[in-house]
Amino acid sequence: MDHLKEEIIKALKVQREIFGDELFNGEENYIVKRINEEMPVVKRKTEVVSNSFQSAGSLEELNGIICNCMKCILGSTRKNFVFGTGNPHADVLILGEGPGADEDEQGLPFVGRAGKLLTDILKAIKFEREEVYIANVVKCRPPGNRTPYPEEMDCCMPYLKKQIELINPKLILCVGLTAAQGLLKKKEALGKMRGQVFEFEGRKVMITYHPAALLRNPNWKRGCWEDVQAFRKLYNGLINHSAE
Ligand code: URA
Repeated sequence: MDHLKEEIIKALKVQREIFGDELFNGEENYIVKRINEEMPVVKRKTEVVSNSFQSAGSLEELNGIICNCMKCILGSTRKNFVFGTGNPHADVLILGEGPGADEDEQGLPFVGRAGKLLTDILKAIKFEREEVYIANVVKCRPPGNRTPYPEEMDCCMPYLKKQIELINPKLILCVGLTAAQGLLKKKEALGKMRGQVFEFEGRKVMITYHPAALLRNPNWKRGCWEDVQAFRKLYNGLINHSAE
């Protein structure tokens, strides 16, 4: 119970930092504003992305429709919407958690230190960065690089699903527990999920460490190496390509 109270207080503090005395209700896309104690609560509808994104025929079109999204509070704090980058017809989708400071600045995923390591990891299993598609579960940077809240991930999930439908990758590599939990809606620990092959809407999914975690704990690099080799093997089996 104390833990729940702490979490609620923490969330309200984050809201207050962003909205002052306005209260954001992500579910209905309203900002509820109490101007002072005597005045009634007034509701102002925030910019809502209609379901028109569902009919997007290309990634470019999809990005154009959703890039001003304000469905959750992350829309208010981002500098740039980070849609994703790479081969629009990639067989492999690399899925991260959410943009960090560098990504927010440049509007591109995995361009900071963790991104450089991700590029090296991909190279080690003979993938060029440009050959795969790289995206995140949430498209806007969580303030202070905190983990995105489940509601924020849920707000962004229809966009990710549409993105996946358009790219049509055969395999997805989730980097980090948050990406895996966001996509697969599983509560298991990373250690339990590594090495397993999951399915998401007919696509194979594997999970490894987040590159930022590897920068903090280089001891995990060996485990990551095993994971990505298994991923490459799965790819070779499915795509009928050789790693050589
Ligand atoms: N971490 C992520 O999960 N995604 C990025 O784009 C950058 C860092």
